[in-house]
Amino acid sequence: MQKKYRKPFIAGNWKMNMKPSEVKPFMAKLAEVMPRKRECEVAICVPYPLLPAAIAATKKIGVRVGAQNMSQFERGAHTGEVSLEMLLDLGVKYVILGHSERRADNGETDYLVNAKAKAALASGICPIICVGESEEEHTRGLTMERIAYQVKAALWGMEASEVRKVVIAYEPIWAIGTGKTATAEQAQEVCSRIRKMIRGLYDGRIARAVRIQYGGSMNEKNAKELLSMPDIDGGLIGGASLKPESFAAIIAATAQD
Ligand code: PEP
Repeated sequence: MQKKYRKPFIAGNWKMNMKPSEVKPFMAKLAEVMPRKRECEVAICVPYPLLPAAIAATKKIGVRVGAQNMSQFERGAHTGEVSLEMLLDLGVKYVILGHSERRADNGETDYLVNAKAKAALASGICPIICVGESEEEHTRGLTMERIAYQVKAALWGMEASEVRKVVIAYEPIWAIGTGKTATAEQAQEVCSRIRKMIRGLYDGRIARAVRIQYGGSMNEKNAKELLSMPDIDGGLIGGASLKPESFAAIIAATAQD
């Protein structure tokens, strides 16, 4: 489906890496190596304690900041949690939800991902909802079943006007942090089926508007090919987002010739 309707979106996921004191020098380096004229939106999703430094350091370089999780509760007796209100107050624009590492490490369910996504949208923070199949599901040919279930569950009960703001990141679990990347054709096939699914659940206009990223060992070498696919609107980048030069090269790869 036509890409002209969607602005490419490159988001870094720092996971549990870097310290607050490392943020400013990183962003200064990124500003130096990143293309000045960009054809995409750029965000970096950092651990909670790094958010204030990241927001301060990105103000003048046109990079937005995201969190990697949030509480489904509004406020109050939820020790260790971080609320949407706190993120909004800091100036956070995005939140990664349902990352496979959170599903595995913290038992996050599709139900929880849906509840958090709806709360984020209601507050004006854009959710980046991660979906992806395991290696076993991949080899057994169950990829689309898994993805269809996760996408439908994540969007359950959302109005069309909310869904158009959602970003979906297709992240095959077997490709995350492994150096094994889905081929551009494999990733395109899944992303195109996600878009068709959204068309079936809502309509063509909404399906055209939703941005679908690919994530899983995307780097400066494979980004151009992946990003040239008609239904891949950007990337969610783990390891390569920790190196300013690599992240900048991926950003530059959104400029199609
Ligand atoms: C991720 O953490 O979302 C990810 C895609 O990681 P990597 O790029 O390191 O595979």
